[in-house]
Amino acid sequence: MSSNLLDKGYEPHEVEKRWYSFWEEEGLFAASENGSQNSYSIVIPPPNVTGVLHMGHALNNTMQDILCRYKRLRGDNVLWMPGTDHAGIATQNVVEKHLAGQGTDRHQLGREKFIEAVWEWRKEYGSAIINQLKHLGASCDWDRERFTMDEGLSTAVRKVFVQLYEEGLIYRGNYIINWCHRCHTALADLEVEHEEIDGNLYYIRYPYADGKDGVIVATTRPETMLGDTAVAVNPDDERYRQTGKESVILPLMNRQLPVIKDKYVDMSFGTGALKITPAHDPNDFEIGARHDLPSIKVIGDDGMMTDEAGKFKGLDRFKCRENVVKELEKEGFLEKIEPYKHSVGHCYRCRTVVEPNLSKQWFVSAKPLAAKAIAAVKDGRTRIIPAIWENTYFEWMNNIRDWCISRQIWWGHQIPAWTCEECGEIVVALNTPEKCSACGGKKLIQETDVLDTWFSSALWPFSTMGWPDKTPLLKKFYPTDVLVTGFDILFFWVARMMMMGIHFMGDVPFKDVYVHALVRDEKGKKMSKSKGNVIDPLTIIEKYGTDAFRFTLAAFAAQGRDIKMSEKRVEGYRHFVNKLWNAARFALMHLDNSYDSIEDDNLSLPDKWILSRLNKAAINASEAIESYRFNDAAGALYKFVWHEFCDWYLEAIKPVLYGKEGEDKRKRTLSVLWRVLHDTLILLHPFIPFVTEEIWNKLPGTEGSIMRAIFPPDNSDFAKTVRDLEAEAKMGLVMQVITGIRNIRGEMNISPSMSLDVSIQSDDGIIRETINQHKDIIVNLAGLEVLSVESSGKKPERVATSVIEGATIFVSLEGIIDFDRETQRLEKEINKLTNELAPVLKKLKNENFLGKAPEDVVKKVKDKKMQLLEKQQKLQSNLDRIKDLK
Ligand SMILES: [Zn+2]
Ligand SMILES: [Zn+2]
Repeated sequence: MSSNLLDKGYEPHEVEKRWYSFWEEEGLFAASENGSQNSYSIVIPPPNVTGVLHMGHALNNTMQDILCRYKRLRGDNVLWMPGTDHAGIATQNVVEKHLAGQGTDRHQLGREKFIEAVWEWRKEYGSAIINQLKHLGASCDWDRERFTMDEGLSTAVRKVFVQLYEEGLIYRGNYIINWCHRCHTALADLEVEHEEIDGNLYYIRYPYADGKDGVIVATTRPETMLGDTAVAVNPDDERYRQTGKESVILPLMNRQLPVIKDKYVDMSFGTGALKITPAHDPNDFEIGARHDLPSIKVIGDDGMMTDEAGKFKGLDRFKCRENVVKELEKEGFLEKIEPYKHSVGHCYRCRTVVEPNLSKQWFVSAKPLAAKAIAAVKDGRTRIIPAIWENTYFEWMNNIRDWCISRQIWWGHQIPAWTCEECGEIVVALNTPEKCSACGGKKLIQETDVLDTWFSSALWPFSTMGWPDKTPLLKKFYPTDVLVTGFDILFFWVARMMMMGIHFMGDVPFKDVYVHALVRDEKGKKMSKSKGNVIDPLTIIEKYGTDAFRFTLAAFAAQGRDIKMSEKRVEGYRHFVNKLWNAARFALMHLDNSYDSIEDDNLSLPDKWILSRLNKAAINASEAIESYRFNDAAGALYKFVWHEFCDWYLEAIKPVLYGKEGEDKRKRTLSVLWRVLHDTLILLHPFIPFVTEEIWNKLPGTEGSIMRAIFPPDNSDFAKTVRDLEAEAKMGLVMQVITGIRNIRGEMNISPSMSLDVSIQSDDGIIRETINQHKDIIVNLAGLEVLSVESSGKKPERVATSVIEGATIFVSLEGIIDFDRETQRLEKEINKLTNELAPVLKKLKNENFLGKAPEDVVKKVKDKKMQLLEKQQKLQSNLDRIKDLK
């Protein structure tokens, strides 16, 4: 049956391509809208349409794929909903760069043509990330792929906007927002990245209205003083009690400002006086609102000074700062300048310094929505795993501020609000209104702002399933079972999905949120282009194959611990994939088309043992997957395949397979070998889908894809008895004996080809019986000539001894080692070590060295000493043993 044989080495690329196409063609990733099985669903965190697969995606999607493949093997009807996010600002920036390369820009094109250009770009490049996910083996239901800007999702976005507006949960208001002058857009608080910079603190004197001395205020942004509308002091501050101190004159602008009293002001900081610029500082904005202060916007949306800035009008904001400082100095109002380290907000997209700015924006009232989302986690309808992230979630949700959802860019969902040119009425509607609902006027201008990208992705779990229609998909698969995500988007995305899902679906969007860690470099450092330590998943896949890469990710994905990724580690797991391949190759050489079901009564000890261990591995792996302990699952399977199936079982059954113990025994063992390989492939499939499918298809007695198999195998004969603890105990004893003999062989430097005489003494009848019963295995695997078993008695002469629980093993050395030569060899080795040790010991006695050398150098020397001493002791004890024997 040569067609059953596997190639000598595993070649991942050809196999991966072939099977992925097969799975897609056969519709094996498809969820059923009317399947009667248990439903299981996951929505993919939609990667940006501009995205390129990075380690974070690789980890995140490998975990989702493990869960989905595992659940399919359990017989569930699985929906893994895929798609991409239109990623407003990110995509607009990419396309703008693209256009710049063609010598044009969006302003030349105009809004409509620009949007067309983005769609064109998406058509050409937008599926790159999807193809990369396919390389990773992702088993998404690709026929259902969605895009946050597609027609259905756009309808959902409008519906949500209109309903929230009608419920009073969306409003338009003047608000201090973070403004990027480069991107020309408002940024959410979370989109602003704060960075410590070396700036200055400028102390400016505002004289009192009567012209006398005045108050000193300090600021890092002196140009904002042009928009000051008050100075604030603490009501308890004695320094500002006297009459004549109720108002000051704003230098350069000659405007009279009230001195207001507000508890917010920290008396101990500087002079205890604060300049108030409601239009350009979020705290000042709130103080301004409390005291009914006017807001004067002096920095325009383009970063230039406005008409309100007097003679500084038209200057760039940073140039204006210089001029204001010069002028203040000339006029004698600048008291001093101090260097000052402070935190400055930058645009997360383009790194431009962000300016707090007053503008008309659209907001979602977050508090009422957040309350329900908090309750859902408190009462366990949604679990956050690991639980450590719950506190972060609560803290953020409890302190949530209204969510600014408008963005001044072109790529995105245009806000469905129209302003009537006749009467100023704002009309919010699902479809473009024909006339003003207030005055009947027909001149309606649509809001030019688009919605924050996260607004549409907040609806992802239900909009992708066809909401607002009541679809069979929603009925079957909402709420989803788990969301697998990194912690960095816990707020941006997860919290908002919770709020929207509960509000619009009346139920949480997911039962579990699994928050995974980061993939870092091998030293634990964050991967970054500037550090040059980025590992590209596609390169790794190219080099080592997808399965090895996936198994590495799973094996190191311990909860709450970052993954240290290195090529070496992937290489290690490629050995594992090859180990499985070689084991299967060996098995397939013996397995012909006849494999009978297992007859429990006649099974040999290794057969019973391996079946029991297989069950144990299946239990461990499935428990671990169900509780998102991917590393434990991978570890259990690795250990089973390598250290039990390959190291012990395959070795133990070799004589049987080669027909040395008769045809009946061979057939029985083959049926067990078949069963173990069959089930092992199923157990491993979620982790290493390609190699398992390839082997599966060579295994006689399997039909079609492994994806249609059932895990854990519920129809197998052995599954009736989950564990055979007696067989495990007996085999455990046999293995201990063999290991004990092998250790002596190693320590005594005895060639593996030399057969040994061994006697075992034990006072435990059961131990003696077990060893006697399975003598053949021990003789075979330990390379023995003679094995005798007896009760405790006199210690034989010229033996090496190994003690295990309940028994003592004696390996005869007579005629095995040349005692004189071995003595000489050991003495020589010990002398060599003594010579090596001398300078080390000397160094450690040298006070000068100990006092001056860096700590890690001293530690190295100390480690070396320990190492040498240990080695020397070991050799010495061997020498003593040999001398005893002589
Ligand atoms: Zn920007
Ligand atoms: Zn009107």
